Amino acid sequence: APQSKIAVVTGANKGIGLAIVRNLALDYPKSPLNRGPLTIYLTARSQERGAEAIKSLNADNALKQAGVLQEGRTTITFATLDISQTKSIQSFRDFLKSEHPDGIDILINNAAVALQGFDSNVVKDTLETNYYGTLEAMQDLLPLVRDGGRVVNVCSMAGSLSKYSAELKEAFHDAVGEDVPAVTALMEKFKRDVGDGKEKERGWPSAAYAVSKAGEIAMTKVMAREEEGRGRGVLINACCPGYVNTDMTKGKGTKTPDEGAKTPVMLALQDIGGKTGLMWQTEKEVQW
Ligand code: NDP
Repeated sequence: APQSKIAVVTGANKGIGLAIVRNLALDYPKSPLNRGPLTIYLTARSQERGAEAIKSLNADNALKQAGVLQEGRTTITFATLDISQTKSIQSFRDFLKSEHPDGIDILINNAAVALQGFDSNVVKDTLETNYYGTLEAMQDLLPLVRDGGRVVNVCSMAGSLSKYSAELKEAFHDAVGEDVPAVTALMEKFKRDVGDGKEKERGWPSAAYAVSKAGEIAMTKVMAREEEGRGRGVLINACCPGYVNTDMTKGKGTKTPDEGAKTPVMLALQDIGGKTGLMWQTEKEVQW
């Protein structure tokens, strides 16, 4: 068995992503999955913002006191990854393959945007990153995750189906029973319905972010089931971090980024009884 672990976090230069990196480093020594040294790739689309984040972690008091970085048992390394760019995902994948031919252990898809306003362009740009970008990262990086690995997609309860028409709810559940293209077809239908100015009467919320997150949850469920069929013990789950004080919530969130990181880090590092394909919040399984 490999004598070290490799973790990757997307959108990790600030907010919840940065807190996930920090808490992976803090919690790994006591994790039941601990197998020797841990390397965490803090990835970001901006080299500059990524370097700043690494600096902040090197100066972090909790990390210093825990001594995890000093003992050299945990290494946090920056790598560029823009999930809205196919080339960026592919070169990051190729980099990982050459650095770690035996694979990686933890993949946390956290990167997302929450854009202002609502029109066809906002819908297109939101889906581009939150749905298509996360999907492409999953398709390219999941094959690198080795047996017993963990994948966590930071979604949102904004992606809950509670506000959708009965028809659309059924369509989402049907798509989850089918495959990824069926989920993608729903995202494309949303785009068309917004283009027609008819999303409301066709059962959608007028909210690009919410629909992108519903699509991300659905895609997570499909890929978890397909992965289960491979029998490699890779667990893939979706979660909501809660309402967290970050740039995304403009200071209005009520939880700290560390609190927001709790559930994703638990899903990556703790014994979750083999559960896969579920939605989680406050460290518990929740209804979609
Ligand atoms: P922030 O806006 O603070 O951080 C988002 C991160 O994603 C940034 O690092 C940003 O990089 C990065 N990012 C955006 N687009 C891309 C891209 N194309 N490629 C790579 N990275 C990208 O948001 P939060 O920390 O609050 O959100 C983290 C996750 O949690 C998101 O998935 C969000 O939807 C989810 N979430 C957040 C909630 C909250 O209350 N905050 C509630 C529910 C879910 P850059 O700095 O370059 O822009």
